[in-house]
Amino acid sequence: AKALGKARYQIFDTQMHYHAQQRLELETDLRRALHREEFLLYYQPIISLTTGRINGFEALIRWYHPQKGLVSPGEFIPAAEETGLIIPIGLWVLKEACQQLKTWQDQGLFKDKIKMSVNLSVKQFSQVNLIQNIDKILLRTQLNSSYLKLEITESAIMDHPESATELLQQLRDRDIQLSIDDFGTGYSSLSYLHRFPLHNLKIDRSFIKRITETRQNLEIIHAIITLAHHLNMTITAEGVETEEQLSLLKNLGCEEGQGYYFSPPVDANAAQALLQDNPHW
Ligand code: C2E
Ligand code: CA
Ligand code: CA
Ligand code: CA
Repeated sequence: AKALGKARYQIFDTQMHYHAQQRLELETDLRRALHREEFLLYYQPIISLTTGRINGFEALIRWYHPQKGLVSPGEFIPAAEETGLIIPIGLWVLKEACQQLKTWQDQGLFKDKIKMSVNLSVKQFSQVNLIQNIDKILLRTQLNSSYLKLEITESAIMDHPESATELLQQLRDRDIQLSIDDFGTGYSSLSYLHRFPLHNLKIDRSFIKRITETRQNLEIIHAIITLAHHLNMTITAEGVETEEQLSLLKNLGCEEGQGYYFSPPVDANAAQALLQDNPHW
């Protein structure tokens, strides 16, 4: 039994070592990626359910790894968060996304309503110079702040509700749009929402997926939409994949949809082509 115990311990130890090493490699890789500009942004359109036209895009990071090819954020954002690298990466995302929208605006194509949504991680949101950094980026890219939308998760807000309120208000004062991301996956409490100055609520894809399953699921989404409307927030449904989901959401008064039914995230050229074609859903 003793020998077995030791053997088990060694396996465990080897695995631990393996993970630590993998993590370290990933960190080194990420640092290099930043310097060599291996990151790029994909853009997924957000559709108005009343007009059927594109209201904006969500910028989603991709990593073009020299050996592994395209790596999705699920595989490196958590490590970037842990190592703090999310701060410089996040700033790069903000700058790139603002610059892209400004370029499209300068081409005279889509002046008015198209907005750019950018994800903010928990760490970024709690960083002291966030506001100064955003101001700098807006100044440098010359993008009017009202075209920028920031997506913040419930936990980023709920971890420090007091300072979050202040920060959100500062952003709102600049006319930056504020969305709560992945709604329903975190604290799932609608009761605290009125305390925060938010414009928009994104219902997590897991709810949309179940919308056709039972009457109850539909009622839950209905309740979320009704309450959010009472709080003067608009609703965006994430992960819309079918016509049936779309028509149910329209009937519930949901303002916007995003998902494979309309378009997957695409590169900048394809996003621009989408805007030029101005498709109608
Ligand atoms: P998210 O913010 O909830 O982004 C939406 C995710 O859902 C994207 O995955 C998108 O490709 C995917 N998606 C969109 N429509 C559908 C659909 O109809 N069905 C399904 N099954 N999926 C759909 P992606 O691009 O892999 O990003 C995953 C997560 O990584 C994001 O979730 C976000 O939390 C994080 N992320 C992505 N880019 C950034 C970034 O620039 N900064 C930070 N901090 N996080 C990011
Ligand atoms: Ca998001
Ligand atoms: Ca989301
Ligand atoms: Ca999500």
